[in-house]
Amino acid sequence: MDIVIIGGGYAGVACALRLAHRARRQGTAARIRLIHPAPVLVERIRLHQAATGQGLRERRIGTLLRRSGVELVQGWAEAIDPQERAVHVGGQQFAWDRLVLAIGSRSGSDEVPGVAEHAHTLNPATAPALRERLQALPRNARVLVVGGGLTGIEAASEVAESFPRLEVSLATEGRLVDDFSPAGRDHILHVMRKLRVDVHEGVRVHSVSAARLETDSGALAFDLCVWAAGFALPPLAWDAGLRVNAHGQVLVDPQLRSVSHPWIYAAGDIAAPVLPPGQTVPMGCKSAMPMGAHVGDNLARELRGEPGEAFDYALLFYCVSLGRRDGLIQWADDEGRLTGRILTGRRGAWFKEMICRSTWWALLMESRGTKAVVWKRTGRAPQAMPRAERAPG
Ligand SMILES: Cc1cc2nc3c(=O)[nH]c(=O)nc-3n(C[C@H](O)[C@H](O)[C@H](O)COP(=O)(O)OP(=O)(O)OC[C@H]3O[C@@H](n4cnc5c(N)ncnc54)[C@H](O)[C@@H]3O)c2cc1C
Repeated sequence: MDIVIIGGGYAGVACALRLAHRARRQGTAARIRLIHPAPVLVERIRLHQAATGQGLRERRIGTLLRRSGVELVQGWAEAIDPQERAVHVGGQQFAWDRLVLAIGSRSGSDEVPGVAEHAHTLNPATAPALRERLQALPRNARVLVVGGGLTGIEAASEVAESFPRLEVSLATEGRLVDDFSPAGRDHILHVMRKLRVDVHEGVRVHSVSAARLETDSGALAFDLCVWAAGFALPPLAWDAGLRVNAHGQVLVDPQLRSVSHPWIYAAGDIAAPVLPPGQTVPMGCKSAMPMGAHVGDNLARELRGEPGEAFDYALLFYCVSLGRRDGLIQWADDEGRLTGRILTGRRGAWFKEMICRSTWWALLMESRGTKAVVWKRTGRAPQAMPRAERAPG
């Protein structure tokens, strides 16, 4: 069977490694190709560190794939042909029996005018330019971060801590981490005050121009704007005619197969699981790696002629870095609801750093055949679908 995985991020690499080792162990033949534009895995969860000039380790995908039998095809997948079961990469065409979409998402907005022209974003290709601009800004220059989610909070606190000479502010449409416990939210606000980050809540942005945001409540001036509100999805799935949600994420069934093209799986940020009421899978590397590993497991089951299993995921905690000296771990209960249990300060920062390191460690262990991408389950996932409903071929 030819299996092509597009995207060598957290989900794609976890999928490739899990599948390769299971296929080899069970003695089933599969040709696995991973299409990815670079020889390195971009640690997106550290992009705010990269943007503030912290030297990060290079994570070579080849280190992980060595001895796995997975072929790395370096390039961008430009188009998918679901009818012909082919993917086009820089003039080459690769045939597949099963395709895995693991192409992630990017920070940014296609909706608010001026973002692309006048704001910086935290993406692999744009983080170096942001770092150069931040380093070149004079004393008291105004840096405005837009977005009150975790990426905005991490970016604002990292910039404020790394560049105390700058005036940093953060604007958000609603309230900062409104879904966190009061204790969690209070801690974030406390650290923002300590780092002298000016927080503007309830600000709806209409447009961005060269030096100001136009908002519901007037203009906000800046010397540099970092856009960390919302996310955008690559159009690959939409262009191929797969069913997607309003954001462009692939709608997948509990086995993580496209609801319109069941021989195409999706994992990570690009996937939107259609799950029973009450079950949600938050976006993040915390879910991307489990989804990738689960798709790898289900493909290995397919190779043996066995039915796939439903993905079952329970949120354990959120972790937020607040610069290098502080952090917040916000725990969830068994139902996935965020509780008043938090870990803060240096211990929170240390915990978060360990979580970041553990992503690479887990992939390294997977590359050696140990199932290290593990996650908490609800125990309430639906039963595996009967064989007759599975993909043809
Ligand atoms: C600053 C920041 C901090 C974050 N912190 C956390 C955190 O603490 N915890 C957490 O859980 N999440 C965090 N996230 C979110 C997390 O990074 C993403 O949810 C995660 O990276 C998703 O993994 P993925 O494998 O789906 O996609 P990605 O990691 O984005 O990987 C997808 C890969 O696919 C490649 N690709 C895309 N299109 C194509 C194509 N056409 N052909 C070939 N390759 C392609 C891309 O180059 C990319 O490398 C953070 C994000 C940011 C920006």
